[in-house]
Amino acid sequence: MPIRGKYLSLCANIFRFMFDSHEIEAVHKSLSVPQKIVLVSHKNPDGDTIGASLAMMHYLRKKGHEVTALVPNKFPSFYNWLPGAGEMIIFDQNAAAVRAALSAGNLLICLDFNALNRTGNMSSDLENFSGKKIVIDHHLEPSEEFDYYFCSSAASSTGELVYEFVEALGDKALLGMNEALALYTCIMTDTGSFSYNCNHGRTYHIVAELIDIGIDAANVHKLVYDTYTESRLRLLGFALSSRLLVWENLHTAVIYLTREDLKKFDYQVGDTEGLVNYGLSMGKINLAVLLTEKDNQIRISFRSKGDFSVNRLSRDFFNGGGHKNASGGISKTSMENTIANLKKVLSQLKGELDYTVSL
Ligand code: 5GP
Ligand code: MN
Repeated sequence: MPIRGKYLSLCANIFRFMFDSHEIEAVHKSLSVPQKIVLVSHKNPDGDTIGASLAMMHYLRKKGHEVTALVPNKFPSFYNWLPGAGEMIIFDQNAAAVRAALSAGNLLICLDFNALNRTGNMSSDLENFSGKKIVIDHHLEPSEEFDYYFCSSAASSTGELVYEFVEALGDKALLGMNEALALYTCIMTDTGSFSYNCNHGRTYHIVAELIDIGIDAANVHKLVYDTYTESRLRLLGFALSSRLLVWENLHTAVIYLTREDLKKFDYQVGDTEGLVNYGLSMGKINLAVLLTEKDNQIRISFRSKGDFSVNRLSRDFFNGGGHKNASGGISKTSMENTIANLKKVLSQLKGELDYTVSL
């Protein structure tokens, strides 16, 4: 795997991502003339991929480029308030418009994913894109499909890397409210409101800059997290009271929701976001799993505390991937079989799950 960048230690606890200077120079040159740029988010979009794309959209337009933002499927409505969100073209709803944007574009920028197949049904259209492909991302092990890499798994979020990218191009002064709101949303959502993936001082320096631009951080938090419908809150209660399995000897908690459960609580995109984390809130639990029955398969979300790598677990057994402590995958068998299979896999890894997180 080629190394595409490194963290340079500036002093005790401040790390700063340094992009490869040749790649920055090449992109700088390419962006010095107007381009038709297509931004792409990953499937089942989260705050980081949406925020990173919208921040890039506003920034690149200020530089005089024509920009379109594409997303494979619908994103949660609690991101609708982000400036520009209404302009994103959703492949599931309008494949023709997505294809038109791709064939008109000459530069593709992928945000918050490390392989084109993370865009689901859109991926073959992306593979056939005729221009250069840039990736800005913080997942492990990026694929070989891109021309330029601005990647580091040490960054809190892709939003943080977008900030670094803009700064590396000498354009910090172009960042205004629209970009700052979007980038703050990236960092806040991908760190669970600053509870994980945020142990580098640099993240907080960037947040300070975003706040100085004028955003109201507490308000952004409210707009994203305090927007539950009654049925979403009741789904949470039901999941915790009736769909929680605790496998104490495996240090694992599983929440499972069937298609019927989701229907009963009028499931809307985004309603299960954050649910997986409740399992981890138990002291003796090191692995939390959320299983949801969607589109004739079981979507899996994994979260872990400490050393256990759920990226490996997803890659090795559930056709997925992600980060060390947060990953996702799928299972193409029934809920019952998925739960049994999961238990079997974890029983084989039991020793790896038996630890206590301490200072
Ligand atoms: P979530 O559980 O919130 O859907 O995803 C957690 C993390 O795992 C995210 O960083 C996401 O990008 C990654 N992830 C989720 N599903 C998949 C998947 O099917 N394949 C891969 N490679 N990564 C995934
Ligand atoms: Mn992310």
